[in-house]
Amino acid sequence: MKEKLFNAVEAEKENLFALIQKLIQIKSYSGEEKEIVEFIVSKMQEYGFDEAFHDGFGNAIGRIGNGPIKIMFDAHVDTVKVTDTETWAHPPFGGVIENGKMFGRGVVDEKPAMAGFMIAGKVLKAIYGNDFPFTLYVVGSVLEEDADGYPLYHIIANEGIKPDFVVLGEPTDLKVYRGQRGRMELKITVTGKSAHGAHNQKGINAIYKMQPIISDIEKLDKKLKPKQPLGKGSITVSQIVSKAPSVCSVSDFCEIHLDRRMTIGENKNSVVKELKAIIKKHKSDAKISIPNVEGTSWKGTKFSQEAYFPTWVYDEKHPLVDAAMRTSKEAIGKAKSGVWSFSTNGVATAGHFGIPTIGFAPGKEELAHSSKEELILEDLLKATKFYSLFPFELIERIK
Ligand SMILES: [Zn+2]
Repeated sequence: MKEKLFNAVEAEKENLFALIQKLIQIKSYSGEEKEIVEFIVSKMQEYGFDEAFHDGFGNAIGRIGNGPIKIMFDAHVDTVKVTDTETWAHPPFGGVIENGKMFGRGVVDEKPAMAGFMIAGKVLKAIYGNDFPFTLYVVGSVLEEDADGYPLYHIIANEGIKPDFVVLGEPTDLKVYRGQRGRMELKITVTGKSAHGAHNQKGINAIYKMQPIISDIEKLDKKLKPKQPLGKGSITVSQIVSKAPSVCSVSDFCEIHLDRRMTIGENKNSVVKELKAIIKKHKSDAKISIPNVEGTSWKGTKFSQEAYFPTWVYDEKHPLVDAAMRTSKEAIGKAKSGVWSFSTNGVATAGHFGIPTIGFAPGKEELAHSSKEELILEDLLKATKFYSLFPFELIERIK
């Protein structure tokens, strides 16, 4: 079976490379994915997927098979913007190929997986027709860069598609990634009492009230303990805002915005508790809140979600991870596991819904969002072999 699949993928090599090139040439900034989603849907129809459509949020969804185990392959098809064209060695939307590598915005984060998933689907349909022990959903999700997790949250909560297992196409450099640190945003607000700068003793300065809290947050960051394999969490003051009736007055309002990365054992409650302890120590009346992430998809669908994205990680012995490691050995001759530093749609599938999730894709995570994004085309071919075989290895493993 393995040989048959891999040979069929090899035979699609030129189509695969042309497809990734086309996906790079279609600019698809977050919230502007209409063209790429419509292209993906029409291609999935052409490839013989049993169903292909865009959902109420604007995600592209294709389905193959009708078996009892539901597997979801997800690649977000939005990218961050290019704001530094002059630092790119190749045009960011050219899809230029040189010495076996492709360059452009999205060749790492994370269009190659989308091309690989689609060609794997085409090959599966061509070989097996309608006879699958699984249902495979291939998702091209939108707005991930602005709202990690939300596109898949939408599919599960609002579209009635609940997978049993998920494979993400975020860059893993052909390793099996099995978790990520969580993240959340918080705000701390203090109020003071305004007074004329010439009579400042009559006021209470909100900035001075915030100062010891900021200083303790800086110390807290250094005290956070690592937990393997995810390493240590972090806390960062990302923004500070203050108000005063004029620049000649005592400030009566100060607010800081925090970015918190969470390792194993850290969650919303523990993070808020740490901050409450700091506030209590300074006998402050500062208030903590968790902001909402809000936006509108290309389809005009509005969303709002709390800026809390839970940590998730699976053991190497977990059946999903194990099946992926076996598939990796078959497809590329070796298998290594790892975790992401950044956040992914797994915060919804694994973090929120507890659905076992892993990732496997070409490309180095540290090149994401940079002008150095590059794809080794042969790695995409290897990943596509992995995608074509993986559903069978998983079914075999969980029997
Ligand atoms: Zn990504």
